[in-house]
Amino acid sequence: MTERKLEGRRVLITGASRGIGRAIAVLFAAEGARVAINYQGNRKEAEACLALTEAASARAGVLDPGHFIVQADVGKESDVSAMFDAFDRRFVGIDILINNAGIQIESPSDKADPKDIERVLRTNLDGAVFCSQAAIRRFLAQGDGGVIVNCSSVHQIIPKPGYLGYSLSKGAMGNLTRTLALEFADRGIRVNAVGPGATVTDINAAWTDDPEQRAIVEGHIPLGRAAEVDEVAAAFLFLASSDASYITGQTLYVCGGLTLYGEYRQNWAS
Ligand code: NDP
Repeated sequence: MTERKLEGRRVLITGASRGIGRAIAVLFAAEGARVAINYQGNRKEAEACLALTEAASARAGVLDPGHFIVQADVGKESDVSAMFDAFDRRFVGIDILINNAGIQIESPSDKADPKDIERVLRTNLDGAVFCSQAAIRRFLAQGDGGVIVNCSSVHQIIPKPGYLGYSLSKGAMGNLTRTLALEFADRGIRVNAVGPGATVTDINAAWTDDPEQRAIVEGHIPLGRAAEVDEVAAAFLFLASSDASYITGQTLYVCGGLTLYGEYRQNWAS
């Protein structure tokens, strides 16, 4: 039998009810992990994810993994604290945190409502900070290291006009990853990020569900298509597992070549 990459690991995944987070939860369960599925408001989707993780564990021959769903708005510190308390009660210790929850709100930057910018930053950035702090405190108390993988974006390095809060949050995700990685490397804590490109999830319904818009988006991607969530989840598995035991502070872009700036394939300037 092939060895499971996350055998017995206790994992908290934020925003795991749908999209990329759900794919990570199912893949990790198939690799032997015990998974807490966080969601904000969509309990039905979280329960559907729970059923998928249980089925994945059963297929992999993992008995009683104990997966569970846990509601929390990651942008509220009190919710995060209660979520980690629930996690402690269930799994008594944590090995891996996946900071995945994220939203975006479109608006010309000069007209963007400060409340919308604040909401995006609170969810995407404060949420990752609150959860990382809670996880690191536990890693340090446990004394045997730990792993954090952040869900960033190609917009960590590519500007995203019309999405100021999102751009700010993902830019900051790069330094969150690098700062925590450096600060806690000597305690055996690894912190990395995955930077997805255009991926087929609800967040992109505006173009994934419209063939014309989708063709335009995919026309900009060097590999010629959007990513499926499983292709992104595979990078999270790599960084979370001991296959990446010597990697910390890095962002792995899973973007079909978007960060290669396809428009520069032919030289059009000097
Ligand atoms: P989806 O919209 O499909 O799913 C978002 C998830 O985040 C849901 O589970 C949702 O929970 C949860 N969520 C939203 N707000 C909160 C909150 N305040 N607290 C807790 N959970 C919350 O998004 P994706 O799967 O596309 O995105 C996941 C991550 O991937 C995000 O960080 C996003 O920025 C990033 N990303 C996505 C890309 C893409 O093309 N799809 C590209 C680059 C990065 P609920 O179901 O309860 O609402």
